[in-house]
Amino acid sequence: MSRLTQPHPYPGKLFVVEGIDGSGKSTQLDLLHRWLVAEGYNVFFTEWNSSPLVKQTNKKGKKKNLLTPTTFSILHATDFADRLANMIVPPLQAGMIVLADRYVYTAFARDVVRGVHPNWVRNLYSFAVRPDIAFYFKVPIDVSIKRVTIGRAGLKFYEAGMDLGLSDDPVTSFRLFQSQVIEEYERLTEEFGLTVIDGSGPINEQQERLRDVVCNALTDYASHHPPMTIPELHRDAAAEITSSVTS
Ligand code: ADP
Repeated sequence: MSRLTQPHPYPGKLFVVEGIDGSGKSTQLDLLHRWLVAEGYNVFFTEWNSSPLVKQTNKKGKKKNLLTPTTFSILHATDFADRLANMIVPPLQAGMIVLADRYVYTAFARDVVRGVHPNWVRNLYSFAVRPDIAFYFKVPIDVSIKRVTIGRAGLKFYEAGMDLGLSDDPVTSFRLFQSQVIEEYERLTEEFGLTVIDGSGPINEQQERLRDVVCNALTDYASHHPPMTIPELHRDAAAEITSSVTS
């Protein structure tokens, strides 16, 4: 049975964010990260596709567009397996809070749109531990397009799904590809009980909702792992962060 269907056995907590490019998930996770640290928690951050193990191979394959959807999927799973073993499970065992920018649901959404069978990719990642909370930042495609095209030189080849040959125009390709990814995320929300956040709302409102959900998830944890006493300096920083996102 997949470990993704049962709570993980570790004393730490795992919170992950998911959503299409431009949904605002990194912005929210970064604010949550800084707030948790300022509150005195021990936090570890990790992000999708960042393991040094497959970075070069991935880069080369992408550059020459050599990757089939299956090899692409296997490379991402290798990256994930490496990070799970070295960066996710050890801090969870040590009772830390782990924050992940994208998790297995990214593969379940993107790889399936690229033509990989849903059961195959779920099986590939069946060793993954279930997060305590998986947030899904839901945004209309136009909101995301606006955000990723403003202040950027251009869309990246793979984020626009250009490898799929849907359109020669990157923005059109992005719209077609990411709209299908949204459809997959909708299915995943049902299947895995993702916590939906309205990603089109103001940054401070989203952050308040995130903190509410996280605080709830930490009720039991906090009594076992009281936050470290924080010096006055950090307490000021905590107050500043809080007021910057709630005012
Ligand atoms: P993602 O990680 O989902 O790709 P980011 O957090 O990087 O998205 O945000 C993409 C862009 O949108 C950034 O320029 C960010 O400042 C902006 N952004 C994020 N959240 C909001 C929001 N709620 N309202 C307006 N702009 C936002």
